[in-house]
Amino acid sequence: MSTTHPNPPATSASGPADGVETFESLDPATGDVVGVHPVAGPEDVALAVERAREAAVWWSALSFEERAEHLLTWRSVITRRIAQRAALSRSETGKPTADAQLEIALAIDHVAWAAKHAKKVLGPKRVSPGLVMANQAASVEYKPLGVVGVIGPWNYPVFTPMGSIAYALAAGNTVVFKPSEYTPGVGVWLADTLTEVVGGIPVLQTVTGLGPTGAALCTSGVDKLAFTGSTATGKKVMAACAERLTPVIIEAGGKDSLIVDEDADLAKAAEAALWGGMANAGQTCIGTERVYVHEKVFDAFVSEITEQARGLRAGGDDAAKIGPITMPSQVDVIRGHVQDAVDRGATAVVGGPDAVGERFVQPTILTHVPEDSTAITEETFGPTLAVNPVRDMDEAVRLTNAGKYGLAGAVFSRKRGMEVARQIRSGMTSINGVITFAGVPGLPFGGVGDSGFGRIHGPDGLKEFTYAKAITRQRFSPPLTLTSFARTAKDEKGLATIVTLLHGGKKTLRG
Ligand code: NDP
Repeated sequence: MSTTHPNPPATSASGPADGVETFESLDPATGDVVGVHPVAGPEDVALAVERAREAAVWWSALSFEERAEHLLTWRSVITRRIAQRAALSRSETGKPTADAQLEIALAIDHVAWAAKHAKKVLGPKRVSPGLVMANQAASVEYKPLGVVGVIGPWNYPVFTPMGSIAYALAAGNTVVFKPSEYTPGVGVWLADTLTEVVGGIPVLQTVTGLGPTGAALCTSGVDKLAFTGSTATGKKVMAACAERLTPVIIEAGGKDSLIVDEDADLAKAAEAALWGGMANAGQTCIGTERVYVHEKVFDAFVSEITEQARGLRAGGDDAAKIGPITMPSQVDVIRGHVQDAVDRGATAVVGGPDAVGERFVQPTILTHVPEDSTAITEETFGPTLAVNPVRDMDEAVRLTNAGKYGLAGAVFSRKRGMEVARQIRSGMTSINGVITFAGVPGLPFGGVGDSGFGRIHGPDGLKEFTYAKAITRQRFSPPLTLTSFARTAKDEKGLATIVTLLHGGKKTLRG
């Protein structure tokens, strides 16, 4: 419930006005308050969308080059203030500063790519009209939808929403962004820096608040809603958007596996699994949660990863490579998964149930984890890995594909990487590396199954925030009159002859 101020958000760094209902953003490592932000109610969200609609008149009328100019300036501003932004991200998420910087660096690259490629991907293109419509000039172009709503999570508070924000903006839309209640400051910072670049026009606005603020954005009449978060909330978002037939992109959770073949470089595979599973305290949608290792190299892999995990620890100090669990309620989920695995016979070779503290979870590696335990079937979102042996790559693929999620994954193999990658039912796979696809701006990002649908990044990501506009222009009178009541028997016969010539033969693609 927003109480007094008639229209406080979109939020700005100057902070909420007196009498406005607020919430606090906390440092997860210490519990200290790092920011106070207004709770945007439905009227505030509606007002932000209205402002965005007005701004869209200007923004969408700019040429691709002009928009690119603004976005590239924004990219430079973010780059120059990367340390400031990383410090803010560290205080809101707890992640190590170096990890925060990496996230921002990747996001910056996406802003640049979207700005530079929008014209090529979305601009008018000629299409062959075919023989029947040979008198037409045909073309397709991709038009902005208008106002895009973006709802983001806290785990990568810049990189993740930027995958929607940058691409939606480059396509000519304006954006209203609702960041997670755990990272509102980062969201406000993003909108403020772009507003500065475009002379105060609300091309990107941030509305802060809790779940109901996101729900209000879903029913606000935005022209598309890009959601990143859990599958459960994604379902609610989709249901709310259905009310107004608002199209949605759902980027939801994952339970990615890393597959290790018998010929893999075990040291590299272990290093990747450790980082893929533990970086950002395991709070990564495309993080490694399961590892399937060929039985011939299973023992060697387990000793290698156990050795590499030595010395890796979670803590609030600058030397710790793993930060706290950002969302306090997640600690119980992690504890539950680890306990369930151990209760059902798994072995904790690193960490275990005792590694789960109040704010910090120490690295935990479990082996021989039953496939029906929650450590295998549900998203854990903590610095844990479930490592199981498999007979061969077919079994690894079968187990990988058995889950309800289908976000990403990795394969380590010298010879069969491509072959195995293609069999994995997921939106993205990296071979002999982890998460590398996310750093290639030209590649689409998104999942299947409970991981959601729709794509951000790359040409597909630009097109997600547009509608295709097909245009035909008559160049000369048609030799046959087909789309008129003036059509004659001669025209009909002519059409039959052409269609028979074109399609009546037995030729296939192979000739
Ligand atoms: P949540 O689903 O809890 O929240 C995501 C966002 O939705 C937050 O901004 C949240 O606001 C908002 N929200 C909550 N309730 C509603 C509602 N009823 N209607 C509209 N919006 C609502 O996810 P988390 O923030 O916990 O993020 C972690 C999840 O995100 C994990 O499952 C992770 O795998 C996934 N993720 C997926 C990625 C992908 O690209 N596929 C990338 C990164 C994360 P509030 O925080 O205020 O409650």
